[in-house]
Amino acid sequence: MMEAVKSFEAIVVGSGLAGGVTALELADHGLRVALITKRSLEDGASPRAQGGIAAALSSLDSIDTHVQDTLIAGAGLCDLEATHFILERGEMAIHWLTRRGVRFTRENGALHLTREGGHSQRRVAHVADATGAAIQNTLHPQLRQHPRIHLFEQHMLVDLITSERLALPGPRRCVGLYALEETSGEVHAFTAPHT
Ligand SMILES: Cc1cc2nc3c(=O)[nH]c(=O)nc-3n(C[C@H](O)[C@H](O)[C@H](O)COP(=O)(O)OP(=O)(O)OC[C@H]3O[C@@H](n4cnc5c(N)ncnc54)[C@H](O)[C@@H]3O)c2cc1C
Repeated sequence: MMEAVKSFEAIVVGSGLAGGVTALELADHGLRVALITKRSLEDGASPRAQGGIAAALSSLDSIDTHVQDTLIAGAGLCDLEATHFILERGEMAIHWLTRRGVRFTRENGALHLTREGGHSQRRVAHVADATGAAIQNTLHPQLRQHPRIHLFEQHMLVDLITSERLALPGPRRCVGLYALEETSGEVHAFTAPHT
């Protein structure tokens, strides 16, 4: 059975670290966001990540060295532009998480960095040995309490709604999605200019 359409300014699917961070940033920039996730906030790979987050943070390190290490470990599968784009933003991501309240392990006032397989430098910032859980435990209350984030747990994305399907003019684009509410068995339509 289909219900009334739920309209938002942005829809984010998945409440792992990628989706959670995106939802918080969009909501902080004033957008009314639907965060749709197929189980609970605690689901997914993010709370299970242990070792930490790699970023060229030490004075002995550089973005170029981090990129080189990543290309070698990637054995030809890395997209160079994407690798640069992501690794250049590593330090910014650690600072963003710190501002959000994640208490990375420190030593003598500085971030404690470990060295993991494939890295030629110590560059892994961590929260003891449960980094993902520490990050998610910090961000989840912020997601739940944000006045512009509407959380839909137990909602499974089943299809995207395209402009073509609705015969909308202009370039072909995604204008929303259908999500199956696991508890009721109902399918809900969500629309937004950004999904
Ligand atoms: C044991 C383990 C240890 C790891 N250790 C590290 C580490 O030390 N350092 C590191 O950088 N990385 C590590 N990783 C990898 C890291 O956890 C992932 O790369 C990262 O968490 C991915 O984040 P994500 O938000 O993209 O995905 P996830 O956290 O998996 O989130 C995906 C989300 O999408 C939702 N979802 C999926 N399909 C649908 C659907 N159809 N409808 C609605 N919602 C849906 C899920 O429910 C979930 O909320 C580790 C992974 C594991 C499993």
